[in-house]
Parts: sequence; structure tokens; C-alpha cells
Amino acid sequence: MATGEAIAEVGRDFIRDIVQADLDGKRHSTVVTRFPPEPNGYLHIGHAKSICLNFGIAEEFGGRCHLRFDDTNPTKEEQEYVDAIEADVRWLGFDWGQNLFHASDYFERLYQWAEHLIRVGLAYVDDQSQDDMRTARGTLTEPGRNSPFRDRTVEENLDLFRRMNAGEFDNGARVLRAKIDMASGNINLRDPVLYRILKAPHPRTGTTWSIYPSYDFAHGQSDAIEGITHSICTLEFEDHRPLYDWFLANLPVPSKPRQYEFARLNITYTVLSKRVLTTLVRDGHVKGWDDPRMPTLAGLRRRGVPPGAIHDFVKRIGVAKANSVVDANVLDFSIREALNKTALRRMAVLRPLKVVIENYPDGPGEELDAVNHPNNPDAGSREIKFGREIYIEREDFMETPPKKFFRLSPGMEVRLRYAYFITCREAVKNAAGEVVELRCTYDPATRGGNAPDGRKVKATIHWVSARDSRPAEVRIYNPLFSKPYPTGGEGFTADLNPQSLEVLGDARVEPALAAGSNSAEPVQFERQGYFVHDPESTPDRPVFNRTVGLRDTFAKEVTQS
Ligand code: ATP
Ligand code: MG
Repeated sequence: MATGEAIAEVGRDFIRDIVQADLDGKRHSTVVTRFPPEPNGYLHIGHAKSICLNFGIAEEFGGRCHLRFDDTNPTKEEQEYVDAIEADVRWLGFDWGQNLFHASDYFERLYQWAEHLIRVGLAYVDDQSQDDMRTARGTLTEPGRNSPFRDRTVEENLDLFRRMNAGEFDNGARVLRAKIDMASGNINLRDPVLYRILKAPHPRTGTTWSIYPSYDFAHGQSDAIEGITHSICTLEFEDHRPLYDWFLANLPVPSKPRQYEFARLNITYTVLSKRVLTTLVRDGHVKGWDDPRMPTLAGLRRRGVPPGAIHDFVKRIGVAKANSVVDANVLDFSIREALNKTALRRMAVLRPLKVVIENYPDGPGEELDAVNHPNNPDAGSREIKFGREIYIEREDFMETPPKKFFRLSPGMEVRLRYAYFITCREAVKNAAGEVVELRCTYDPATRGGNAPDGRKVKATIHWVSARDSRPAEVRIYNPLFSKPYPTGGEGFTADLNPQSLEVLGDARVEPALAAGSNSAEPVQFERQGYFVHDPESTPDRPVFNRTVGLRDTFAKEVTQS
């Protein structure tokens, strides 16, 4: 497992090396890649790895990258997904220019190629039931058996295939198969299905077709039609490569792309499977594809993750030939790295505890200066209101503190960020014995946070003015799954984290975070983490999503001083 500290060497990997060698060796004059999503769901961070690789290579080597929708299954594909995919690729900063394509653009050509295979005796119509086909396919250790329909004549095959296309038969009644080798050690070569009957209208081709090509028959040929030089895909397609090469060898294709496989991205505490993500949305386990707990790009964006953090993450994890699982902390690390540089600092109290400063005069209070970014003077500063009543974080007070607790407790003195030293005099309790208010005193000589006599305090805590702060809702997101390696299969819901969303309804934020500041830019709540306005914010009640905490959320909580 990689960690945030183990920074991968960036900029070079085995695929880029191959591209470089192909250009140097004049095997290609320009590099053409593609990102080929199936529009049956939203893109996730795994897709981002593939997008950054394909578009990144095209950019770095002065070539081009196509966006091609692999729209061969009209029953699962929707316009909503097409729109979301385009928006997400753009959000990552990539541009396909004129190079937007669809596998469905090639349906006519693929059909002609299917007839070509029939004519040369390399494809046949099979009437076996799906079950019979499955049993006859054999296993990894046993060869398959030839279909009783395998030796149909060319004329009979052509006639049946055309009638499949004319809509004469029911869905699933027949398929067109390649005639390769039922005894092949590679199951993908055991007469794979090329076309199936599916009487469903297609968003782009309407009711033109009653048959649709299989993924395997469409994918490689689409690459060949578009002149893709480097067809980059994930490892599970390694065993399909001999089949794609068989198509390229037996069809009059205009070019012969080569396929290279890399390891798909997996991350701990999450599942990157469209099927699982679709189920989460459909069954209401999350609020939608853009729920900030989702590993989708729409979810990450709503959580406040900037595209730069995703680029950084993808560089860090590199491109390898062996599957592995990346520690979720690596992504958080990249997010913190990106946001630390830009996010303005603000104060917000997530779980407020009222503090009355007994020796501070009642009234309008005073204005104090607070810097917007500690490392960037250009970000300037702002005025924050201080007064007799403030809120601090509940967890910054303990009535009977353990040894290493240096924040507020009876008799202890701490620094209020940008303000004064205060000392706790008394904890006021309700009938149930819970602390509901602290009575404190302040030292007027410590304005700005330093004592003229040089005395030190061990803790600085944040606060907001009771009068001037605004109520807010803060949503804290924890991992969607409670296990580092959740099952991606049946029953995955058992591994869902019941605490993945914590809603803090009584938070208080400084005025700069409320009025008219519905900015899409994340800010840092001092000592808490990075937060961004959720689209559900209203002028009266801002809603903030926690993008990421300041420290590893997956590590044990450390006592902060
Ligand atoms: P499925 O095929 O099961 O619907 P998919 O995740 O493969 O799901 P596609 O739309 O086919 O979805 O994916 C588009 C591209 O993204 C493919 O080229 C695929 O290799 C790549 N991709 C998908 N998931 C990952 C991942 N986890 N890591 C890296 N690349 C991925
Ligand atoms: Mg796929």
C-alpha cells in the first residue's frame, strides 16, 4: 500500500516510455489516444486516472485524445450520464476539441464487418440457449464443445443474421458468434458473441437496429476506425487482447492499434465499481451521484476537492502493471496539499460552548485583525468582532483534564486566536449536570495574543463572537465504507459505514463566511480542516461540507495542544 509520504516519481511510466520509443522509432508520427466511457453512470476517481493518462499523454507528446462514448448497450445508457461525463472531463481541465465520437457512429461499418466475417466463414449464427452456450464454453481447465449450429452454410448464416437485424426474432433467440476455437486456452477465443438481438431504441440511432454489437466486437474496431495509436485500458482486458488482434487480422480495418494494459485504481474504504455506485444511488444509500461521500468526480467536486488535487494524486500513485490498493490517505494528502496553498483561513465553531468573559465590558465589543493566509501576505487580513460573549469548541474544554490536556479547564489560561489570553473561572451546569457555559476572565494587556510580561500559554484555541457569528450547518463526511477492503460483490451494503455523514446543526461561523460569500472556493476553518459551501446553502443558513480534515482521518485521533 502506498502512503502519502512515499511520493511516487512523477512524469514517467512504462506507457509513456512506449509512446516515446514509438515516436523516436518513427513507428508513429503522432500519438492518438482515447478515453472510452460507457454512459451508464457517473465518472469516478478511477476513471480520472485513465483520463489523466490518456489526455495527459496526448498533451505531453503533442498528439490528440478522443472522447468516445462506448454506447453499445441502449438499455443502460442515458443522456444524463453523457452530460455528466463531458462536464467532469472538462472540470479536470481536458479538451477533446473536435474529437467527440460514439461507438454508435460505427454501427453500420461494424455490421458490414460482421457480414464480412460470415462470408469468409469466420462467423455463424447460433440458436443455442444462453444456458447451453454457457455450459458448452467449458472452463479454465476443460475445453469447450462446438455448437451444433457451428457448421451452417454462409448463405444460411447471412440469411439468419439479416433476419435478426430485421427484427424477426425475439431478444436472445439467436446470436452471431465468431468461429475461432472452442478448445482455446483463452476463453475469450471460444467463439465469442459478436451480435445479440436487443429490440430497444438507441438514443442516437433510434430504431434502426434490432441487433447491437458486443463490447468486444465494437471496442477494438472503434479504435481502428479512429486511428488510435495507443489503446490504453485496464488489466482485466489483457486476456481480450488476442481476440482484438484476431479481429484486426481478419477484418479490412484502416489501422491496427496496439493495446496496453495498466492497473486499475482501487482505494481503501471505497468501492470503484459502477454497478455498486449505481446501486448506492438507486437504493438511496447516498443522496445522489454527487453526494460528497461518493468517489465520483461530481461527489468530490461538491465536497470541495479541486481538480489540481486529483491531478496531483494521479501523479503520486503512478501507472503500474500490477493491481494494488491505494491508501485513502494518499488522496486526502493531495487534497490538503492543494488547499493549504490557496484556502483562506476563517474561524468557525462546529460544536459551540458559550463563554462569558466577566471582566469584558458589555456592549458592541471591538474589532480585531485576523490574517487571511499565514504564508501569503497578499491575501490580506480582515476584521473580526470580539465581545463579552463568545463561542468556543466544546471539545476545547474539560472539567477534569488528563495530564496532557492544555486547553481550557478550571483555572487554566489559553490564548484566543487573534484576541486575548483568557482564564477559566467556572463551569456552569444544567440540571442534568452538563456544562452549558464557561465563566472566564481576560487579560486586557494581551491584545493580539501576546503577554507583555512574556508569560506563555500552551494552547491557542479558535472562537467566534456570540453576537456577530451566524448559525450554520456543517456536514462532516467520513469514509463511505467501514472496512478498508469492502466487498464489492453481493451484500456490499453490510460494509457501509453508518457514520459516513455527521450533520452538525448548531455550528457558528464568522460573518465573512455567511453574507454573500457563497463562494465555490474552499476555506480552512482554523484547527478544523477545509470546508466549502454546499449548493444547499441559503442566505440565512449556510451549509458547509468538510472537504478534508487537517490530519489523517484514518489515523488515530491525536490529542492536540
Ligand atoms: P463497466 O465497464 O463495468 O461499466 P468501467 O468502470 O470499466 O465499468 P467504463 O465506462 O467502461 O466503465 O470505463 C471507461 C474507461 O475508464 C475504461 O477505459 C476503463 O479502463 C477506465 N477505468 C474504469 N475504472 C477504472 C479504474 N478503477 N482505474 C483506472 N481506470 C479505470
Ligand atoms: Mg468498462
